[in-house]
Amino acid sequence: MSYTLFISDLHLDSARPHVIAALAQFLDTNRDCDALYILGDIFEAWLGDDDNSALAAQITDLFTRFTRNGTALYLMRGNRDFLLGSNFAQRVGASLLADPTVIDLYGTPTLLMHGDSLCTGDTDYQAFRKMAQDPAWQAELLAKSLAERQAIATHLRTVSKESGSNKAQDIMDVTPNEVTEQMRRFNVERLIHGHTHRPQRHDTGSGTRWVLGDWDAKGWALKIDEFEEKLYYFNINQ
Ligand code: MN
Repeated sequence: MSYTLFISDLHLDSARPHVIAALAQFLDTNRDCDALYILGDIFEAWLGDDDNSALAAQITDLFTRFTRNGTALYLMRGNRDFLLGSNFAQRVGASLLADPTVIDLYGTPTLLMHGDSLCTGDTDYQAFRKMAQDPAWQAELLAKSLAERQAIATHLRTVSKESGSNKAQDIMDVTPNEVTEQMRRFNVERLIHGHTHRPQRHDTGSGTRWVLGDWDAKGWALKIDEFEEKLYYFNINQ
């Protein structure tokens, strides 16, 4: 039976080896899927495609082994790994997706997003997002040495740990009107996104909105085939 998988918000980090092990197992188990989409925040931080950390090497290896036998892998940037680029995608045999992207999923047009752009109520965050998405700002950042970028990332991580911004209750939820507007704009009745760490199916007037979950003590995935859509989780041993 052919099927497609969606995951997001793994927040891969060398400090959380259980999540890396869970990803390795997940990729192993699903080698025969049609495609795997990872909708952002794959990494807790990404310094750029020249990132030479042990974590980058480890994940490069995992993804490369997954795509080697022809399984399609699509990667979207999140707010954590906004510097993820096509060089990395190419290196691991994946394709980098723009946010937003519409795909044809077994005959149903489906809108894919990381989800942060839907949280329009968080104006501070949207100001940061606008800056982080600016190609000139990104180029300036990428022109810095890896060591400088590492220092910036460490600083941002400290700030984010203090504010606890990896926890669902501290991430603002999506703005319902923005969801409706984007689904209308792209003329779809299905939207899949992550970011908010509030895994759930929402049936609204505009269609179905699937929210993926983050990976920590549990891993979450959405499995879709021609006949059914199923959001499920599995336990991750720490
Ligand atoms: Mn996010």
